Amino acid sequence: MKKDLNIAINNLLSVIEQHFPREYFPTKPIARGNPYDCCKYCDVSVPEINSKLHNHEDYCLYRKIREAAEEVEIYILDET
Ligand SMILES: [Zn+2]
Repeated sequence: MKKDLNIAINNLLSVIEQHFPREYFPTKPIARGNPYDCCKYCDVSVPEINSKLHNHEDYCLYRKIREAAEEVEIYILDET
């Protein structure tokens, strides 16, 4: 039962990794003429985010998903 749950959670984490990769977040251009891109979900610019998850807005979907995934990963690591 616990093994099945771990497999299910690992499957879920791999789907999250495909859509919300740890290494980079989805971006979009800020505006015409602005050289920078921003987070697709919270509109904070890439330089302001500076590769730090906590620099995304609190409500950012990318941040929320990554924080949730990292919380779950801690439990998975505890089980092994
Ligand atoms: Zn964001």
